[in-house]
Amino acid sequence: MSDNKKLYSLLDTLRRTAAFTGNLALGGAYLAEQKAEDIWKTAKLRMEANRLDEEIRERLQDVGKYVYATHTGSPSDSDEMHETLQEIDHLKGKLDAVNQKIGRRPEALACPFCGADVQPEDRYCRECGEGLFEDNSAEDFEDNQNGES
Ligand SMILES: [Zn+2]
Repeated sequence: MSDNKKLYSLLDTLRRTAAFTGNLALGGAYLAEQKAEDIWKTAKLRMEANRLDEEIRERLQDVGKYVYATHTGSPSDSDEMHETLQEIDHLKGKLDAVNQKIGRRPEALACPFCGADVQPEDRYCRECGEGLFEDNSAEDFEDNQNGES
């Protein structure tokens, strides 16, 4: 009888272990699937961002043509240009949203003084040292300086 009890107990343990291992395996597969899906989603978003980049560039070229036509004394339809500018705003909004999803730095973030790439959190350009993004208060920077010294 007691041998039977041991056997049952052993079987019970095995069954539980099997169930546990089974769950783990399932969990792993689920995670791998999720990860593959994330990678695929990110890849699709990158393609979307590139497509938007391209479209914005084309629209900007159109605006350049309108401006140059005006400069040379043969102004083009200003409604047309206004429409194109609005399209650019719209596309930029979409691009920013996509970039945010994939954690990409918006392309527009360049130092206005030297054109070097800057990060949104930068207050001063790493290349030329000019102050950036004036709406960020300079007091924070001074606080940081005091904290470090
Ligand atoms: Zn700079």
